[in-house]
Amino acid sequence: MRPPLSNGGGMKMFLADLFLPNRCPFCDAFIPYDRLCCDGCFDSCAWSDENICPVCGKSVMRECRCGKVTYDECVAAAYYTGNAKAAVIRLKFMDGVSAAAVFGRVLRDMLKVRGILDSIDAAVPVPMHRSGLSARGYNQAELIAREIVRDTDIPLRTDLLYRDEPQTAQHDLGLEERMAAALQYHGRDADLGGMTVLLADDVLTTGATFSACADILKRMGAVRVVCAAAVTA
Ligand SMILES: [Zn+2]
Ligand SMILES: [Zn+2]
Repeated sequence: MRPPLSNGGGMKMFLADLFLPNRCPFCDAFIPYDRLCCDGCFDSCAWSDENICPVCGKSVMRECRCGKVTYDECVAAAYYTGNAKAAVIRLKFMDGVSAAAVFGRVLRDMLKVRGILDSIDAAVPVPMHRSGLSARGYNQAELIAREIVRDTDIPLRTDLLYRDEPQTAQHDLGLEERMAAALQYHGRDADLGGMTVLLADDVLTTGATFSACADILKRMGAVRVVCAAAVTA
C-alpha cells in the first residue's frame, strides 16, 4: 500500500516525488510534490458550509438529526456529491488513499478553527471488521483519523473499539439501522475517564454509526465525543 501523502514538503518528499510522482487524488493529474491535490479539484469540491449543523453534522436545511444522536459535536469536510463523493468511494474500494490526506487536513483545520483540536485527548477511527480489513488492506476511517492528528500530539487509538462481522443486507432505515449499528460495535476494556475523544469516519449518513460508537466510548468514561466525517450524506 502506498502511504497517504502529506504535504509539508521537505527534501524527503521532493526525493520521493522523483521516484513516485505525486498525483491529485481526485483527477489523477501529476501535481507538485508538496501539494495534496490540484487547485481545480479543490475548488470544485463541495466543501461543507454554514448549513452543516455543528452538533449532528447533517444539513440543517434538510435532515438535521439533533436529539437523535449520542455524540456532542460533529465536523464534516464536504457534502457527499461530485468529486468528494467519487474520492470517498475510491477510498472505500480502491487504493486512492491520498484523498484521506486532503479530507484529514480540511477536518483538522475545521477542528482548529472551532477551538476543538486542543481539547482532544485521543482519536479513534470507526472500526472495520477484520474480514473487510484483510480484503482492503486498510481501514479508510483510520487513514482519515491519522491525517487529522498528523503533526499533533493526539494519540491515534485503534485499540478501543472493534466491530463484529457486518450483518447481511438490512433495510437500514431509522430505528432499525440504529439498532443494527449498535449491535455491531463493541468496546475493549479501557478507562477513558474524563477524556474528549475524536471519532473519525469516511461517510456520515444517518449518524447511527457515530452514535453507536460514541455511546460505547461514553460508557468507557469519555465525557465528550466529537465526530469528524470526510463527507456528510
Ligand atoms: Zn485534480
Ligand atoms: Zn443537527
